[in-house]
Amino acid sequence: MTIAIVGAGLGGLALARVLHVNGMSAVVYEREASRDARGQGGMLDIHSGQRALREAGLIDRFHAIARAEGQDMRLLEPDGTLLLQEDTPDDAPLDRPEVDRADLRDLLLDSLPEGTVRWGHAFASAENGLLHFADGGSAPYGLLVGADGAWSRVRPLLTDARPAHMGQNVVEIGIPDIDRTHPDLAAMVGRGNYWVLGGGRSLAAQRNGDGRVRIGLSFYGTDEDWFATSGIPFDDPAAARARLIDLLPGWDPRFTALIEACDDTVVPRAISTLPVGLTWPSTPGVTLLGDAAHLMPPVGEGANMALLDGALLGLALAGRPDDFPAAVEEYEREMFERTGAAARMSADLQEVLMSPDAARRMLAFFQG
Ligand SMILES: Cc1cc2nc3c(=O)[nH]c(=O)nc-3n(C[C@H](O)[C@H](O)[C@H](O)COP(=O)(O)OP(=O)(O)OC[C@H]3O[C@@H](n4cnc5c(N)ncnc54)[C@H](O)[C@@H]3O)c2cc1C
Repeated sequence: MTIAIVGAGLGGLALARVLHVNGMSAVVYEREASRDARGQGGMLDIHSGQRALREAGLIDRFHAIARAEGQDMRLLEPDGTLLLQEDTPDDAPLDRPEVDRADLRDLLLDSLPEGTVRWGHAFASAENGLLHFADGGSAPYGLLVGADGAWSRVRPLLTDARPAHMGQNVVEIGIPDIDRTHPDLAAMVGRGNYWVLGGGRSLAAQRNGDGRVRIGLSFYGTDEDWFATSGIPFDDPAAARARLIDLLPGWDPRFTALIEACDDTVVPRAISTLPVGLTWPSTPGVTLLGDAAHLMPPVGEGANMALLDGALLGLALAGRPDDFPAAVEEYEREMFERTGAAARMSADLQEVLMSPDAARRMLAFFQG
């Protein structure tokens, strides 16, 4: 039976790799034209997902690309008060190391047999055992796995649920080569995560492996139309930076200096989620994993869950090669429970981030 995976993200690739190490093959259809077609974003904090990398036989190679010092954390309030600083000792265990998303995806891609991923194949629909692609091509399948992310085209085969805006809009900006261009700001941000929280806003700065500091400015309690009404001129980066600073009244000048130092990449990102605890009746021949199944607030669980979904579905299929419907049902039962709990925890954390005294509540969360 041909296993067709739609989407070469972390979840789809983890599934293909675990099937491969268990002697089973799959085809991954990816709409991007090549592995480098699109930037893969910044760092991911990988904790529970390490189990998936172990099942995939890749844990040593993962440790070689993971950054322990990325676990460093600084938590501040908008007036400049430092609430928490954690510096990772050199011999600290790699419990939650940071990894560059592109490096992790490359690790998975390089671990698959040549030709497993078919680039430039945008899934459009499926019927009678045939996948149809946007360019008019088609391919047969026995089991279809939708690993095609937040705006999955496979999901409607199983459920009417769609992501809904969750009242958070993020503007992504960044400082390239910060050690050379702004050593003072580099020292302030440190080696890992730097968070300023409070008053319905947050600034999350994070050092990436390439020396760039990526900054996400979040505006909570804002609706889907907010980018259009915010007065941020996205086509004029200097004016956009000035407007972003205006939107942070009373913030310590050290934080606004971070915004002033950014380059001209200014990216709006509206944040949506699927309903917490989404399930569907198990249907032979099709299932979902990762963001396609359980899109959560971006508080550090999504990639971990996608990796685990891929690995655990792979193990279930390898354990029942003659009965894929039973394997899928077994996978979905565990996945619904595990990811439902992660989504509830993420929603709780999101509620903390959105609150006026977010930094103090976050401190209590970390200390608890
Ligand atoms: C700003 C931000 C920071 C985050 N930080 C973290 C973190 O620190 N830790 C963490 O655990 N999670 C984090 N996440 C969440 C995490 O990135 C996602 O949950 C994870 O990437 C989901 O993996 P996936 O394989 O399900 O989907 P994706 O990685 O989105 O991959 C889906 C793939 O499907 C392809 N595709 C889409 N449509 C089609 C189609 N029609 N046909 C063919 N291919 C298609 C896409 O091109 C893509 O390659 C973060 C998310 C954001 C937005």
